[in-house]
Amino acid sequence: MPTPRAAMTTIDTAAFSKGALQVVTHLQRAGFEAYVVGGAIRDLLLGTNPKDFDVATNATPEEIRQTFRNARIIGRRFQIVHVRSGGEIIEVTTFRGNHDNDQPTQAARASQSGRLLRDNVYGTLEEDALRRDLTINALYYDPTNHQLIDFLNGAADITARLIRIIGNPADRYTEDPVRMLRVVRFAARLEFDLERDTEAAIAETRHLLADIPAARLFDEWLKLFMNGFSEPTFMLLSHFDLLTSLMGDDIDISMAQQRSLELQRKALGNTDKRVADGRPVTPAFLLAALYWPAVAHRSAALTTQGETPIQAMHSAGQQIVQQACRRLTVPKRFSLAMRDIWDLQPRLERMQAKKVRDLLAHRWFRAAFDLLLLREQTSDMTSRCSDFWEQQQAKHPELVGSARGQREQPPGRGRGRRRRRPSSP
Ligand code: ATP
Ligand code: MG
Repeated sequence: MPTPRAAMTTIDTAAFSKGALQVVTHLQRAGFEAYVVGGAIRDLLLGTNPKDFDVATNATPEEIRQTFRNARIIGRRFQIVHVRSGGEIIEVTTFRGNHDNDQPTQAARASQSGRLLRDNVYGTLEEDALRRDLTINALYYDPTNHQLIDFLNGAADITARLIRIIGNPADRYTEDPVRMLRVVRFAARLEFDLERDTEAAIAETRHLLADIPAARLFDEWLKLFMNGFSEPTFMLLSHFDLLTSLMGDDIDISMAQQRSLELQRKALGNTDKRVADGRPVTPAFLLAALYWPAVAHRSAALTTQGETPIQAMHSAGQQIVQQACRRLTVPKRFSLAMRDIWDLQPRLERMQAKKVRDLLAHRWFRAAFDLLLLREQTSDMTSRCSDFWEQQQAKHPELVGSARGQREQPPGRGRGRRRRRPSSP
């Protein structure tokens, strides 16, 4: 057991979310231990603004629920409680404890490969720290007495700018292979290095990502690519040979060809810039650009077999989406958009006068035009038709994207009641 370290630290509680402070004090008044934990403390020590505030406590999910008027237990694999406080939702988790993988119980269960399918064994604060993924994410702060609790030298790793897995990296990756993706995400976002063993073990366990359900991989994909650091993240995933495990073999054609990689990097860079500027981003455009080299390759092959460019693009898009979805469950609204963006490419290249209005009005015209620009900039295509489309947009600005929504409202009732995942964070 590591030595507990508690230190008085100057963390600016003014930067704390009101909701998190209220939740912590409320739990403490009810007689429980409670701390702000994880990313928020890491980010405050780094001097950046936390994205969200998580709370850890020794109260069980049921006890948490009973302590608050507005609380809901969610999750199965890993139960957490969402507490609504003010306008915020604070994620409250009960301290996790150790469990024996050979003895499956109601609370904890592992797959044959050792992956944890359920992790609801509760424990002490120290045990909770040991079950977290990275040392820099295992810092606890008590805003009532300003104590920072750091069992695993997380603060020192923040100073040294190191990503270090807690415990034996190969074991921790085996328990949850998504931790490899988290390691890369934090390394790219914080510009930290990987500690030697944290890095070395990836080669041993990367194949285990194949067992992760495609829906969870897509959730993780959104966190990796929609948060403003997609370009360094992509390069690091590729460096550690994790990219194809995440996005399938089709993503890799690019690596062989400088031109394709350049197109992908520009798309990633543009996305990051949009996030930095606070402009909206859609996974559909980025996915369409990242798989574009594969689609172009496939479609070229189909044209040599006699299909027209428009038919070939359509079938190629269908095939690539289908293969990608074996790894990542791309929700239909995005995969349909990706295929539209690809289908529009040969149509835009034709520059037919009588089709101009319809094409400009297409819901995905802007995204398709952006892909066309990237293709020209990276000499993926020889002719320049962006000038033509630039002029058409200037002539009919009111038309651009005006058919928006036509396809989004399929007939039928009850859509409003369904809970939907946000399109991007
Ligand atoms: P972000 O700023 O991206 O929200 P975060 O560190 O808060 O970063 P979350 O995904 O919100 O990351 O997770 C909250 C905390 O839960 C983490 O700091 C970490 O301690 C723990 N955690 C999350 N996922 C895992 C995992 N797969 N294995 C172990 N611990 C995890
Ligand atoms: Mg968080």
